[in-house]
Amino acid sequence: MQNKEIRLASRPTGMPTLANFQIVDSDVPQPKDGEVLVRTLYISVDPYLRGRMREGKSYVPPFKVGQVIENSAVGEVVESRSPAFQPGDIVRGMLGWRLYSVVPAESLVKIDPRTRPLSLALGVLGMPGLTAYFGLLDIGQPKEGETVVVSGAAGAVGTTVCQIAKIKGCRVVGIAGSDEKNQYLRNELGVDATINYKTDEMKRALQETCPNGIDIYFDNVGGEVSDAVMPLINQAARIVLCGLISLYNLDKPDVGPRPQRYLLINSALMKGFIITNYMPRFREGFSQLSEWFAEGKLKYAETVAEGFENTPQAFIDLFTGQNLGKQIVKVADK
Ligand code: NDP
Repeated sequence: MQNKEIRLASRPTGMPTLANFQIVDSDVPQPKDGEVLVRTLYISVDPYLRGRMREGKSYVPPFKVGQVIENSAVGEVVESRSPAFQPGDIVRGMLGWRLYSVVPAESLVKIDPRTRPLSLALGVLGMPGLTAYFGLLDIGQPKEGETVVVSGAAGAVGTTVCQIAKIKGCRVVGIAGSDEKNQYLRNELGVDATINYKTDEMKRALQETCPNGIDIYFDNVGGEVSDAVMPLINQAARIVLCGLISLYNLDKPDVGPRPQRYLLINSALMKGFIITNYMPRFREGFSQLSEWFAEGKLKYAETVAEGFENTPQAFIDLFTGQNLGKQIVKVADK
């Protein structure tokens, strides 16, 4: 068995490039007592990793230059020194961008091997699904008939938010960066109206698609898209601050219209969150998402890059919107 791992070669300036990553041959590590050796099958690439590539304080420590990129993945247990796992078990954990990882048994979660595709455990039935679920339901508090606007609507979190908002009886307006993505949102997910933020005039498009104003704004992108949304929020609107992908590659602080006036005059709430805040309720989230999925109320979309070596490119592609739904890297078959 030969191991490979992908390390941060240098900190990106602006948009990350392949030169920021280094693919290195390494040894397959040996598990000690309480540890498990896992073969990676599917890797999740996520926008927040960009934040960990820069120096400075955030909610997770930055990667060191030379460090293997650490992130969620699905794999198969090869060897276990813990009674909790057997070879052949399918697990999700922070395996990192590696072919083989040794991790503490308690950091792994077993995945039902009948889950198909197994990568669902990294998407609608994984962290992005939970992010949509808790962000929308706990902070957004959607009520039937309300208008919900979702930015980054065609991504992993966004597609799930749109569908949960529909399940709750809301009118949903999705904002995404291509007509194909918007077509998918309307035709496959039942989104009521869509806006292409790259080609539509945002102010007019929002006025047309939200004639009754905006009750909930689920924000995945920040920046100019959000600047355009704020003047249309209603009394007691809820702004769910989930992500700011349009700002992740900026080297200087973003300056734009300030949102406080709209929050004040509408007695509105803007609340940020990090999904791990909800860890004590993850079981509830997984159980409801799985139920909706089994009932056919939640669909999934994923974009799959084939091959471990393509992981850095799949990550970079998130910032040019190459993905519809969850961006996955398929490393090996099961
Ligand atoms: P996505 O699957 O949504 O992928 C990223 C998408 O962002 C791209 O497909 C692209 O779609 C869009 N995008 C990229 N650059 C820009 C830009 N400059 N302006 C507007 N849109 C852009 O990723 P996720 O679903 O995993 O994450 C969505 C957001 O949620 C991210 O901001 C992420 O950091 C955040 N997040 C937050 C969590 C939390 O705990 N708070 C947990 C998980 C995710 P398009 O073609 O439409 O431009």
